[in-house]
Amino acid sequence: MDKALKLLKDIYGYDSFRKGQEDIIAGIVAGHDTLAILPTGGGKSICYQLPALLLPGTTLVISPLISLMKDQVDSLKRVGVQAAFLNSSLGAAEYREVLRNALQGEYKLLYVAPERLDAPMFQTLSEQLHIPLIAIDEAHCVSQWGHDFRPSYRQLAGWIGRMPNRPLVAAFTATATEEVADDIVKMLQLKEPRRYVTGFARPNLSLSVVSGVDKKRFLKQLLKERNDQSGIVYAATRKEVEDVCSMLQQFGVEAGKYHGGLSDTERAETQEKFRFDQIRVMVATNAFGMGIDKPNVRFVVHYQMPGDLESYYQEAGRAGRDGEESDCVLLFEPADMQVQRFLIEQGAGDAERKSIQMSKLHTMMNYSRTQRCLQQFIVDYFGETGVQPCGKCSSCLDKSETVDRTEDAKMALSCVGRMKGRFGVTMAAKVLKGSRDKRLLEFGLDRLSTYGLMRHLPERDIADWLYWLVAEGYMRLSEGQYPTVSLTANALPVLEGKASITQRVRATVRQTSEGTS
Ligand code: ADP
Ligand code: ZN
Repeated sequence: MDKALKLLKDIYGYDSFRKGQEDIIAGIVAGHDTLAILPTGGGKSICYQLPALLLPGTTLVISPLISLMKDQVDSLKRVGVQAAFLNSSLGAAEYREVLRNALQGEYKLLYVAPERLDAPMFQTLSEQLHIPLIAIDEAHCVSQWGHDFRPSYRQLAGWIGRMPNRPLVAAFTATATEEVADDIVKMLQLKEPRRYVTGFARPNLSLSVVSGVDKKRFLKQLLKERNDQSGIVYAATRKEVEDVCSMLQQFGVEAGKYHGGLSDTERAETQEKFRFDQIRVMVATNAFGMGIDKPNVRFVVHYQMPGDLESYYQEAGRAGRDGEESDCVLLFEPADMQVQRFLIEQGAGDAERKSIQMSKLHTMMNYSRTQRCLQQFIVDYFGETGVQPCGKCSSCLDKSETVDRTEDAKMALSCVGRMKGRFGVTMAAKVLKGSRDKRLLEFGLDRLSTYGLMRHLPERDIADWLYWLVAEGYMRLSEGQYPTVSLTANALPVLEGKASITQRVRATVRQTSEGTS
């Protein structure tokens, strides 16, 4: 790895690897298929660029992001690495020239858009080139369970499988739940891949969820307190963006707006102004952000809850790129759930797709209601383990009273454990209630030793309790139309009596009782 470190210094001018990079590079160079899940900005590119430099031949990089390809190739060329890309932005003549050079082995890295890779093209490349490694960026696009499925990714696996000398395959993504990760391995036919999940924690971000407040008043207060700071306010719809933006302007804040309904020029102008601090606050839909890299964003406020945790963390994560302390505030009210549900129902996609989006929405809800450390909740969701509580999120700082509910938890967890992941929350609640439900009896679930253990509680409260345990990470719901519930590793210490469970008694502030103005 000395060689890799030397290249890192010589070519990129960096002194050390970031978390995960060194292991990933070493693994690839040693000949292992790889699945690496690193957050956006985590430094994925180096993880395949360095192996490409260390291995003989031309590494293929599959990426759907055309503008990113050009950036990467430009910066590689600047540091003296032979690289090129093939995508739809090239004219016919250019395209032929790049291809000709590529086939003569002139490039260490060749970026190809998946749409460009039809079977004959792939065959030409693989027959005439020595390809030691195929790096697949945005690998979640191969999975139906991911949030950006692309059919062109599906064909890749088949072609790679048929290559006479199958190269190493390294798949990269910033967002993959365990299910998506498994699916990537299966779909791309990775061979005994080494898996890495790393770097999701952002220690300079203070995450918080704020519920039960008057959002407008809250936002004005926040902007008053931070009158010299730059920030982004994300809202769910164009109309909401318009409303919030005018409200802020009337309040005297230099705010600009950004959403899909504005012209390209308007958007580009506002973005530039924001970048150069002529606008202090950007109010935007999720259309804003792709490719912006403003370092000194000090806060990101979500005026509404987004539809999934991937999007939330990506948007919130635009705060504090420079490593300075920054805040990410999610303003939550249960009605946001209805908005998102409506967007899913009205949106594109078949029934299966929609049910996946619904289960992602539930995770988002869990985040909004959890009392676990919010940073831990997020990294856990991405599958990274061993991250300590952050000590500065709204959960970590919450000082409200707690009650011990270890016994209730044991009952619920042992019941769910005995149902072996075959049933949903509703059925588990019925069993704990001791219900005479027909299906329950047909399945013989009344014979479980946990049958009726919580009969003193209403069935709805039992179900709420089960959802709470899901939100706290002791159990999980499967994805799909009929989610089933099963235990996570966190449940074991509780069942073995080694960990206790406390629940916060929240003073529920309701908007009606608080009054709005
Ligand atoms: P992504 O994971 O989003 O593809 P990039 O590969 O573009 O991230 O890297 C994000 C930024 O971090 C880039 O500016 C890159 O040059 C920088 N970077 C990557 N690795 C290191 C490192 N070891 N030391 C310092 N900066 C790094
Ligand atoms: Zn925390």
